Amino acid sequence: MSGARILPVRPPFIGCGASYEDAKFVMFGAPFDSTTSFRPGARFAGQAMRAESVGIEKFSPYQNRSLDEIPICDAGELELPFGSAARALDEIEGFVSRVIGDGKTPVMIGGEHLVTLGAVRAAAKRYGGMAVVHFDAHADLRDGFMGESLSHATVIRRVWDILGDGSIFQFGIRSGDKEEFDWANGRVYTERFKAASMERVAGIISGRPIYVTLDLDVLDPSEFPGTGTPEAGGLSFAELLDAVITLAGPAEKSRNKIAGFDLCELSPHYDASGVSTAAACKILREMFIAFA
Ligand code: MN
Ligand code: MN
Repeated sequence: MSGARILPVRPPFIGCGASYEDAKFVMFGAPFDSTTSFRPGARFAGQAMRAESVGIEKFSPYQNRSLDEIPICDAGELELPFGSAARALDEIEGFVSRVIGDGKTPVMIGGEHLVTLGAVRAAAKRYGGMAVVHFDAHADLRDGFMGESLSHATVIRRVWDILGDGSIFQFGIRSGDKEEFDWANGRVYTERFKAASMERVAGIISGRPIYVTLDLDVLDPSEFPGTGTPEAGGLSFAELLDAVITLAGPAEKSRNKIAGFDLCELSPHYDASGVSTAAACKILREMFIAFA
């Protein structure tokens, strides 16, 4: 286990007041944005979401269930060294290993997308045959970015280094260089622009542990402007929510096994209206309920 320090934050995200001992889900912030290639600020997402969360209901009319019915601990914000991506990832991996080792499901709030690599490292050590479902505007499959192998532009390529072919399923992708799309052929399943094939993919990977990483810039910037690299032509909130619920599987049958999940790349200061943070809070609520 790492010596990662976590700073408790009160009040917690709405409906997430369970103790660590009692919790099924352990939510935490990973406030790191040092490799952000365009507009930084995602380090502030966790705190903004907690503050904004009082504005949403705990009950989901989409899934007819409330956060109150699920034991969730909001553990607070990890203390991460901004100057070192490698050390920040070690700290995240250590904390997630501890959460998984205690039999709980980690739920990470980025931060930029690179933080996902720390969580996937920990989850992949615990769960053999893991699949990753990746929502994003960007392929994130570069082997290096400006000479760095650790970047939010390379994070899914680094995940592939761990999991290999046939383990990564991307949705909503509409940005990347040609090499990334060519490289993905036969290695990574990439649905461009939409998430229409989710039902088929959810069936293919059912039975495998699934880690879900949601880069919130998969949403259309008209609904989600508060992000570092906005990309026109994205999913609507309704399409994303439908894909998440479809991925979880039908409620009346045994649902897919979620090893952990994260939300990344909310950068609250780029959205003066606050609607992006509100959308992030709402999809988090729906993910807790869908994956419980
Ligand atoms: Mn990304
Ligand atoms: Mn992205």
